[in-house]
Amino acid sequence: MTQVWVLGDGQLGSMLHEAGRRLGIVVSPQSPDDLQALAALADMPPDIITAEREHWPDNVFTRALQAHPAWLNAPAFAVLADRQSQKALLDALQLPTAPWCPVTQDAHVGTLRAALGGEFLLKQRRGAYDGRGQWRSDKASGISLPDWRTEAIAERRIQFSTELSLIGARDAAGNMVFYELTENFHADGILQISVMQPGRYASLQRVAEQYHARLMTHLRYQGVLAIEFFLTPEGLLINEVAPRVHNSGHWMDGGASISQFEMHLRAIAGLPLVTPLQPGCSVMVNIIGEQAHPGCLALPGTQLHWYGKQPRAGRKLGHMNFFHPDREQAVQWLRALPLEAPFEESRRLALSALEG
Ligand code: AMP
Repeated sequence: MTQVWVLGDGQLGSMLHEAGRRLGIVVSPQSPDDLQALAALADMPPDIITAEREHWPDNVFTRALQAHPAWLNAPAFAVLADRQSQKALLDALQLPTAPWCPVTQDAHVGTLRAALGGEFLLKQRRGAYDGRGQWRSDKASGISLPDWRTEAIAERRIQFSTELSLIGARDAAGNMVFYELTENFHADGILQISVMQPGRYASLQRVAEQYHARLMTHLRYQGVLAIEFFLTPEGLLINEVAPRVHNSGHWMDGGASISQFEMHLRAIAGLPLVTPLQPGCSVMVNIIGEQAHPGCLALPGTQLHWYGKQPRAGRKLGHMNFFHPDREQAVQWLRALPLEAPFEESRRLALSALEG
């Protein structure tokens, strides 16, 4: 049986493990801090090493994993894990992205506003996710920037009508498949709700797939990769790229015939890549902090998925999916779901997308 190691042992790693069990692939998520696993890497090396995250501590174990011949996507991680090299690559490939610039020690709010033509965000180059490591100029009280400015890029604040993501996969032979564009609603930088309606963004789908294919082909990428977009009056702008399975694809567990986790394993293990059936409306709601909604299980289209993590404010603890061929049913489910205050704006936007 094919043995796959995953760098990272969070919820994405355990979902890859689940998908592997069904496919007959042994998937073993590895904590990047588990230095004991170094011996196992030498004694019983896996056939394939992949990752569920793009940031990890630098230690003897993570270095050994990346130096291993079974480690996939070394060129992709080297460039995509740092926002600055990621943005430079997007520019070089002529893939549209929010205007940006590196930040020097002597930069201040005024110089960056002038350079970027308006309000901007500082985004930490490494290790920041879910809106962490972000700083907004429109909320600044003076001209000074945070101390970590030289470890950040500055990016123009974009006015967008919605956020979309495209998840696709490529195998070693260059075959590629894509899912339907997913619409995403965030609060404080954290994904709250994702909605997929087949064909809703049909005219953008082709463009998004072209961008995605250009990037994966350039990187000779193997596996699932996610691109997040802003939809603007000028078209799609890439917000960021994640070389892994992605939170905005969790709806696929019920809403697609092949989940992103299975697709990732198919792509890296040389199994057939086919475009999955995605026949109905799908809604995914993250469970963040301490909410629990067992009541939602009373409807037949509902899935509930806990990650087994200790509750903490702002932490993703699980998600709920709703899938139904009838869009009206998805609207009713989302309306009826008891959600905490931070979700209300996302729910309103998601409902207007579903009803629009
Ligand atoms: P990120 O961690 O880069 O995905 O950012 C998290 C969220 O912050 C995004 O999903 C957007 O809602 C918001 N955001 C990020 N970059 C920008 C930008 N340049 N302009 C406006 N909003 C942004």
